[in-house]
Amino acid sequence: MYLSRIEMTGFKSFADKTVIEFDKGITAVVGPNGSGKSNLSEAIRWVLGEQSAKSLRGSKMEDVIFNGTQQRKAVNLAKVTIVLNNEDRYLDYDFSEISIARSYNRNGESHYSINNESCRLKDIVDLLLDSGLGKNNFSMISQGKVENIFLNKPEERRAIFEEAAGVQKYQMRKLEAERK
Ligand code: ATP
Ligand code: MG
Repeated sequence: MYLSRIEMTGFKSFADKTVIEFDKGITAVVGPNGSGKSNLSEAIRWVLGEQSAKSLRGSKMEDVIFNGTQQRKAVNLAKVTIVLNNEDRYLDYDFSEISIARSYNRNGESHYSINNESCRLKDIVDLLLDSGLGKNNFSMISQGKVENIFLNKPEERRAIFEEAAGVQKYQMRKLEAERK
């Protein structure tokens, strides 16, 4: 499984629809300061379910929507779609390509979909649980996160190992069952 494509429209500095295709293997994104490298990595975290505006360097979720420049008007909708190549069926979903999309408008309405079918955020989280993807996982390591692994409390560090061992899914299900 690997990230094969991302489409961003109205997300942060990506006002127009921007499509980036990724190949297997290593991709490096380079560019001058302010060109959108961090915005790109935030788009990936956002579509995987990031709910904290602060961790996206904003103060409210609306800050992910392109808010205009001197030359351009702001837009009303941010949308990000990622396509995962799942030919190896690494994710428990019987499709060779899985597209995950999230959009957000200035009325505060969110929309999520998997392969163009509307879904809940929870469905995306469930799909990615224990896969090593997901907003809290270490597939995305931002600046400053490395030392967090060492500075975390033991319980927090244990969660990292539980995720890696693939037991988080069962713990979530247990909690859900207990709540019912
Ligand atoms: P550096 O090399 O300094 O880390 P970078 O390539 O990571 O730079 P980003 O931080 O991704 O750059 O991009 C910052 C740019 O994105 C800034 O110019 C900022 O104004 C712009 N930006 C952020 N949010 C929005 C938004 N909602 N609307 C329009 N532009 C935005
Ligand atoms: Mg940056």
